[in-house]
Amino acid sequence: MAAATLSPARPAAVSTSGVDSTLHRSSIRPTLPRLFQHRASSLRAQSLSSTDSAKALSNDTFSELNEGIAHFYDSSSGVWEDIWGEHMHHGYYDPGLPLQAAFSVNHGDAQVRMIEESLKWAEIPEVDSRPQRIIDVGCGIGGSSRHLARKYGAEVIGITLSPRQAQRATSITSAAGLSSKVSFQVADALNQPFPDSHFDFVWSMESGEHMPDKQKFMAELVRVTRPGGRILIVTWCHRELLAGEESLKPNEEELLKRICDAYYLPAWCPASKYTSLAHSMGLQDVKSDDWTQYITLFWPAVILSAFSFRGISGLFKSGWTTIKGALAMYYMVKGYNSGLIKFALITARKPILES
Ligand code: SAH
Repeated sequence: MAAATLSPARPAAVSTSGVDSTLHRSSIRPTLPRLFQHRASSLRAQSLSSTDSAKALSNDTFSELNEGIAHFYDSSSGVWEDIWGEHMHHGYYDPGLPLQAAFSVNHGDAQVRMIEESLKWAEIPEVDSRPQRIIDVGCGIGGSSRHLARKYGAEVIGITLSPRQAQRATSITSAAGLSSKVSFQVADALNQPFPDSHFDFVWSMESGEHMPDKQKFMAELVRVTRPGGRILIVTWCHRELLAGEESLKPNEEELLKRICDAYYLPAWCPASKYTSLAHSMGLQDVKSDDWTQYITLFWPAVILSAFSFRGISGLFKSGWTTIKGALAMYYMVKGYNSGLIKFALITARKPILES
């Protein structure tokens, strides 16, 4: 999830994460974020006006996007981990908690609760036929991968575009004694290096919002799922269009544009885009839900952490891109509060082939 960008990039010399500190250096691709932002705008302009427009985008544009996302997470994951820990996704909170609760709630527990509640909602079996081979698509530093491996005793492979995340995920996993079960690779979710029907369970926690072509994304998830296996996507969406509406309102598109600029998000869609893709691909037990009511404390908490002493000092060290990210936190809150942004879950099962 793009909230990692809110966290200021850690300076090159500081490495509490045990990975090659040269990966932090902005000199690797100093102009990439700005270069990409230009491209992101054109991607976004197309994707917001037509949900199928991604098909028309060139492979060059896709690889430029991937480089931008990789660079983004390479530079921001360390400080996110320092402040928030191993999970880079929303927490799950009881609805209706007052805003002050953001100070007192344990947000790490809320993030683990998000994983647990999502699995329960998707009815992933815990005993008989529990998943034994899992892919964590867009794995961050592997918080979910390790949780799933422990919970199900499963083998888990996590993929990310960020080499630094893959390294850090590997080293935390080794320290946790889980290396025989859990591994990580730098790989593209839209072009996965795995055979067909390889996984019992496909898990994507807050990576779908980065995917420029939702159809290709879903098709890859379906391809690598074994017949009878399950898919669970937890992702940011925009609201459903109302009857008679052909697009979002201009002010809504403007708000999403600002978020895209800050967080490397090329395309937004409503949750129904995923469910109609799932139906068109022949999936079964397709369902989706809107969990926006369970995540409302998260962004205020991220804002608080960004303006903590560590957050502010990092913000000043890392400059405009991060400040822009910090400002966009406000847009996220506004998007959720106005009903424009939805925190969506989508699940489905790949049918068992008849012999
Ligand atoms: N699921 C993790 C991390 C969420 S951050 C967690 O909940 O902790 C978003 C993740 O999606 C990052 O790891 C980023 O590298 C990954 N990602 C974005 N686009 C991707 C793509 N095309 N292929 C693989 N990973 C991708």
